[in-house]
Amino acid sequence: MEEGCGYIDLGLQISGLIFSIFLLLNEMSMNDLTRKLGELQEKVIQCNQCPRLVTYLQEISSHQPRRYRGEVYWSKPLPSFGDPNARVLIVGLAPAAQGGNRTGRMFTGDRSGEWLFNALYRFGFANQPNSLRKDDGFKLSDCYITATIRCAPPQNKPLPEEIENCRTYFLKELDLLEKVKVIIPLGQIAFMQTLKSLRLKGFDIPSLPFSHGKLYPLSLRAQHSELRTVTLITTYHPSQQNTQTGRLTRAMFHQIFKKVRGKLEDGG
Ligand code: SF4
Repeated sequence: MEEGCGYIDLGLQISGLIFSIFLLLNEMSMNDLTRKLGELQEKVIQCNQCPRLVTYLQEISSHQPRRYRGEVYWSKPLPSFGDPNARVLIVGLAPAAQGGNRTGRMFTGDRSGEWLFNALYRFGFANQPNSLRKDDGFKLSDCYITATIRCAPPQNKPLPEEIENCRTYFLKELDLLEKVKVIIPLGQIAFMQTLKSLRLKGFDIPSLPFSHGKLYPLSLRAQHSELRTVTLITTYHPSQQNTQTGRLTRAMFHQIFKKVRGKLEDGG
């Protein structure tokens, strides 16, 4: 009887040890991923590959509108941000000159961000319904936000070569964010550019039409690697042009995140 108890104790100790090693390895790989993403975002902040945009960012900070006069503008390339273990990746178009470019974080302090953050909070991907400043405690959970390009362009219109320059960072993020199951490009341009990046990564993607609320399951089996599947969910961009004209309503936008939740609950 006593001998049996000894075996049970030993078994419990071994299980505890294995679990601790598992936690430690998990934490080490998590730290490694956080470090790699951090290094990538540091490179982004230092980037000056697009001279037109570098000049434009300086112009913005020296011609502030009255409502933001006196604020210290970020006016550098904007790093992506969020949960390194995210299953949901949101792809914006470009930072807003008086929004993210001012506050130093994508979508923070602009009208599109108010819509996006509100929806993310409502569906459990953020801890606050809005974020006006980079240091207000806003955090994403299971969600990561990036963009097609990371410098605010004049008239919100990046040039094709600027998109190509910036694609390198997005491709690297696709490699690092291995747990991503659902990608939501905001608007048609981000949708087209996301498809192009996924094709470059080896996903075999046919020509796909853009409209609001479509679900496109995509898969990739690269040589020597496991099958990777992601679902693309399309939406109109929550720009003022779309939200003020009623092209995109709150109900339509929330419907997208309901689909995202449903997809994750199905196992992605
Ligand atoms: S848009 Fe991208 S590639 Fe061009 S300068 Fe900004 S961060 Fe660099």
